[in-house]
Amino acid sequence: MSHKGTLYTVSAPSGAGKTSLVSALIKNTDKLCVSVSHTTREQRQGETDGVNYHFVSEQDFLDMLERTEFLEHARVFGNLYGTSQLWVEEQLEKGIDVILEIDWQGAQQVKRQLPATLSIFILPPSRLALLQRLTARGQDDAAVIDGRMAEAVEEMSHYIESDYLVINDNFDQALEELRSVITCQRMSTDRQRQIHMALLDELLS
Ligand code: 5GP
Repeated sequence: MSHKGTLYTVSAPSGAGKTSLVSALIKNTDKLCVSVSHTTREQRQGETDGVNYHFVSEQDFLDMLERTEFLEHARVFGNLYGTSQLWVEEQLEKGIDVILEIDWQGAQQVKRQLPATLSIFILPPSRLALLQRLTARGQDDAAVIDGRMAEAVEEMSHYIESDYLVINDNFDQALEELRSVITCQRMSTDRQRQIHMALLDELLS
């Protein structure tokens, strides 16, 4: 393969619609995939091991960490999460773009290690909309909701560190905005040069 893919991080508070947007994005975009993280958190109902996450024990996670198998890792809400370095490198080497759906701590680590990474932040359209989305998830009591809101505000305070900011008010519009970030990067002269080397040689001969 003559060119490498681009690495993206997508961060958002829970309730901003990040996972739905990324799923819709990769479904209709060629050569774009999302990394499946390792986590020590409990598997939720409806989640599949190896699809949503690789669910591992804390000991297995720490062993992987010691073997430096993670590109980045972080403790989020008491659970460990990490991205497999080897898997990401393999995709990028094949010229496939990779999205990491990770929190702000992970996004910072990835940017430090691979400065060409593009970071995208997704925010909800209002505090009320976020509160409604967090409340709609279950019958949690007020203290749980308050805790989630505080965590969301902490995550959102890091929006300023990202390269692109998408507000998820209208799903279809947010999806198009996300897609345009990918398209824009794919049209960069650097990337186009790698793909169209033969054409450029021919045109300039
Ligand atoms: P959840 O457990 O609700 O799926 O995710 C909780 C938080 O962990 C989200 O903000 C999510 O983006 C983040 N997260 C998921 N996977 C990773 C990962 O591999 N690394 C980091 N740093 N955060 C992750």
